[in-house]
Amino acid sequence: MTTTILGYPRIGAHRELKFVTEEYWAGRVGEEELQSTASTLRRAVWTELRDSGLGTIPSNTFSFYDHVLDTSVMVDAVPDRYRALSGLERYFAMARGTADIPALEMTKWFDTNYHYIVPELSLDARLRLADGAQAKPVAEYLEAKTLGVETRPVLVGPLTYLLLAKAAPGSPEGFVPLDLLGALVEVYAELLERLAGAGAQWVQLDEPALAGDLGAREVEALERAYRRLGGLSSRPKILLATYFGTVAAEALKVVASTAVEAIGLDFVTRPDTLEVVASAGGLPHKTVVAGVVDGRNVWRTDPARARSTYAVLLGLVGQVQLSTSCSLLHVPVDLDSEPALDPAVRARLAFARQKVTELVALDAELRSDAPQAAPASAAGVDAEVRARLEALGDIQRADRRTRSAAQQAKLGLPDLATTTIGSFPQTARIRRARADHKAGRIDDAAYTEAMRAEIGQVIRLQEDLGLDVLVHGEPERNDMVQYFAEQLSGYAATDHGWVQSYGTRCVRPPILHGDVSRPEPMTVKWAAYAQSLTAKPVKGMLTGPVTMLAWSFVRDDQPLPETARQVALALRDEIADLEAAGIGIVQVDEPALRELLPPRRADQDAYLAWAVAAFRLATSGVAISTQIHTHMCYSEFGEIITTIADLDADVTSVEAARSHMELVADLREAGYANGLGPGVYDIHSPRVPTVEEMEANLRRALKAVPADRLWVNPDCGLKTRGYAETEAALANMVAAARNVRATR
Ligand code: GLN
Ligand code: ZN
Repeated sequence: MTTTILGYPRIGAHRELKFVTEEYWAGRVGEEELQSTASTLRRAVWTELRDSGLGTIPSNTFSFYDHVLDTSVMVDAVPDRYRALSGLERYFAMARGTADIPALEMTKWFDTNYHYIVPELSLDARLRLADGAQAKPVAEYLEAKTLGVETRPVLVGPLTYLLLAKAAPGSPEGFVPLDLLGALVEVYAELLERLAGAGAQWVQLDEPALAGDLGAREVEALERAYRRLGGLSSRPKILLATYFGTVAAEALKVVASTAVEAIGLDFVTRPDTLEVVASAGGLPHKTVVAGVVDGRNVWRTDPARARSTYAVLLGLVGQVQLSTSCSLLHVPVDLDSEPALDPAVRARLAFARQKVTELVALDAELRSDAPQAAPASAAGVDAEVRARLEALGDIQRADRRTRSAAQQAKLGLPDLATTTIGSFPQTARIRRARADHKAGRIDDAAYTEAMRAEIGQVIRLQEDLGLDVLVHGEPERNDMVQYFAEQLSGYAATDHGWVQSYGTRCVRPPILHGDVSRPEPMTVKWAAYAQSLTAKPVKGMLTGPVTMLAWSFVRDDQPLPETARQVALALRDEIADLEAAGIGIVQVDEPALRELLPPRRADQDAYLAWAVAAFRLATSGVAISTQIHTHMCYSEFGEIITTIADLDADVTSVEAARSHMELVADLREAGYANGLGPGVYDIHSPRVPTVEEMEANLRRALKAVPADRLWVNPDCGLKTRGYAETEAALANMVAAARNVRATR
């Protein structure tokens, strides 16, 4: 028996890769320095892993931007528009675009917060191993070998790669990237031969797609690919790694029938992986690389659980190796960089470095039969929160018509009411004030003064523009999740817990470790101050329970729905306080609703049910005359469209500008009959939209929604925009609403 991990963070313990890459982009350092930092970082990982006593060590987990993009470059799946460029210049152009060439699309890597660059494939793509003997996986394998470290190069598997790709624009009807499987597998065949030639004993092919729903076509493709690769006469042994869920039973059957030597299985994400292995009749001729250490959450492993998984597996499969459930890319590097964390919380945590140590210790324990102690401390329990949740009654509000009549009587808003999504531009001045306050350079009073000044300006601006429902502008918020996490009990923040989100962008998700409660109001003083400055209604602004979980590391010792209810209860209290302070409209943002949707259809209904219940728990404690808004931003609402109706917010604002209001009719069909604010302009670019185009959007929307239910707002918050374009765009937006009101 031995140990391994499926991958390791590439950004460096102090985000070295981010900083040097950004310097390179800015032209302040040359390619040589960039390459040398990269090489230092790779070496540091390999030597650290070797010294930790880990059994086998992955390579090719490094990337300048993204491993899917690396694969595209490796197999020469480079769209024509980048062909005039070469090397790193071309690579970064594909990732980020240039002044003249747009970037490739970027999207989420399964249900994580990591984003990959979407391959764009055309029917006539001529896939080939672009760099031949210098292909990146070969080069990194040899680089490690020079250090005396034998590694297992990690590749995105050919099936997953094609399933994540999209057909190039203008592709013939019916073409799907999977049509290129034959050609792609030949490139992998050449690569595997070259790796074998370089001396590689093992290669890891990542096929997380096998944990999703597979159709007959995908299963057939899987079989074709791995028969061919398994049958190569000269190749390293193959570890086919599945993760982010339980491998699909049909896929497991196919893999078992190929010559692939080892299969990586995720025993963390869902409880049923062992059953799937057992019902397949076990894997007597394979090595199972058992993901018993959670690769994407920050908790220490329960040794008893790992031990029992191991014991059952031993009876089912040829050999067992202990591993992480997926790459450690998704967790911060080192817990030792967090001396300020509460020791009781710390004792339950393991970041990437600690997870490697855990694996080595688990392995030793299983060998010696001396049980290892379970994590010492348990999550903080808040009896009051639990009792209140237990006692909570109906979370259904009065019917929609009753509510809307009461709200209209109170608010008296015009048809096509105008508003914004919450944030106004986060200027340098605002950021400086927050930083000065955090560092103690200005005291609480001075900080409050600075924020009040910002709020005062934003309110005046909105009044001048003639908006109907105002916001305070969110100047005090560093981030829509962290701001609340910092104020809730049961949450902790880290100082250096960075995780790659995309390219050089890293995030520091807060850690939800115990029962959640709200010691004090979180937003009331800012909202109430804003309301005191105007006779127009000010909309309170909160982050919803699902989004609070999606962008945090969440405790895994109780079911997610239970944790969501606790967060929802804290929000319910906040909403009650806002209402008591005279705020008549409260928006609860759920931009991450789509993100937590499980990859398997079979799991989706249960998720959507608890997500809806948590939202309703948070928002149903108010008077019927208090108006609840929600906001979501995705271009693809497909699977969650009826859920938007189920949330039953009085008003829902959604991203719709880029898809020309198509969503409006879809929502009506899904039974949504409340207020709707389909964003009339795209805030993701500084371009100022014209009155005419926004009018056209509104007239389009009016075909599906009556004017008294149609709201007029931008697509999303304005925090990333500058004031000049924001003022111009909002002025045009208000003019568009007025024109449509007047000429309907
Ligand atoms: N209220 C938030 C804002 O305006 C919403 C952000 C979001 O949708 N991601 O910034
Ligand atoms: Zn948004």
